[in-house]
Amino acid sequence: MAYQMLVDLDRCVGCWTCAMACKVGNHLADDEYRVEVETHGSGKGIDRPAGVYPDLHMTWQPVYLPTCTFCAPRAAEGEKPFCVNCCPTLALAFGNAEDAESAFSQEKARVEGRGARVWELDSAGTQTRANVLYATAR
Ligand code: SF4
Ligand code: SF4
Repeated sequence: MAYQMLVDLDRCVGCWTCAMACKVGNHLADDEYRVEVETHGSGKGIDRPAGVYPDLHMTWQPVYLPTCTFCAPRAAEGEKPFCVNCCPTLALAFGNAEDAESAFSQEKARVEGRGARVWELDSAGTQTRANVLYATAR
């Protein structure tokens, strides 16, 4: 299996439900996260927009940490990861990249079909997990 995650940034509303679902589902400690949601705005913390009122803007990016297991026990049972299961905007898709019928492959084909740019963070030597792709038409 070649499990991968696809994050549609155009659907992410920065709600942190993915992070909370992971925390609850995987019984993580209060200060432990396996995915964190970054705000791309003024660079001064969560939900701080860039720009000058009324021209304010910000976007969000879930960043998967190296401790993320892709919910291996659930994946082995054919279940979605907790974060994917609970995202209210369907911004997350997970599955076998080698299977054209998987949720990951289907969603990747959908976003590429609407002209989205798809890329992967360079996880080497960083605090990000490999095999997480991002897509945005912006
Ligand atoms: S990926 Fe989904 S659950 Fe996570 S912050 Fe974005 S919209 Fe919320
Ligand atoms: S895939 Fe599983 S372990 Fe990784 S962030 Fe999502 S819920 Fe947590």
